[in-house]
Amino acid sequence: MQQTSTLPSTAAPGLARDLIQAFELEEESRDLYALELLDRMVHEVFPGRIALVSSFGAESAVLLDMVAQVNRHIPVIFLETGKHFTETLMYRDRLVRRIGLTDVRDITPAEEDLEAEDPGGTLWKSAPDRCCHIRKVLPLEQALEGFDAWITGRKRYQGGTRETLPRIEAADGRVKVNPLADWSLQEIRNAFKARDLPSHPLTNVGYLSIGCAPCTSPALREDAPRAGRWNGMEKTECGIHASGNQWE
Ligand code: SF4
Repeated sequence: MQQTSTLPSTAAPGLARDLIQAFELEEESRDLYALELLDRMVHEVFPGRIALVSSFGAESAVLLDMVAQVNRHIPVIFLETGKHFTETLMYRDRLVRRIGLTDVRDITPAEEDLEAEDPGGTLWKSAPDRCCHIRKVLPLEQALEGFDAWITGRKRYQGGTRETLPRIEAADGRVKVNPLADWSLQEIRNAFKARDLPSHPLTNVGYLSIGCAPCTSPALREDAPRAGRWNGMEKTECGIHASGNQWE
């Protein structure tokens, strides 16, 4: 492990909103493996001010397990949209028990937003971007209040806007840490085996990427990694990663 840091061991809260800080962190952390990067971010740079956001989807177990190895008390935010597969909710509970995470937070949409915009629960059909906005984007904004940084499980091989994903970026006044950005699908599979992690039950029946039930379909194994999400629509992302300042 090589560190050439010129950054204070604990960054001041205001600095977390600075793109320059994110750039410096990326430069300084270039030689750190994913687990080392996580350890540094959680314990040295953003102690008590960083959370993991997880969908508990097809590949989520790898990052959840890594975070638990670093600190199993770190807050884990799960956007409970009210539209998840039952299998996902059961898998979430099983994984949490298995890994030993102690602070998993179910974040739900505001009742008034649902009553005003989606009383019948079918907004996903007519206006999926708006549905994601009230069920994911707004609740996440609230859930992240008080945090200067968050960890995501996105990878470059997932394609689309993720192809140039840095391991550390700045967006909406926070630093986003993507420890697995440069991992391959094979490395994810290897990690499942090496750590004997349980797989999401829907991956055994043809689902490659798993989000809300109405917007997720099975796909072929040779399809793109995020095939099956918002089938037949232009939409490829839910909106929580819509803005950002990236480089590379
Ligand atoms: S993924 Fe679909 S159901 Fe879930 S919040 Fe977005 S549009 Fe709504």
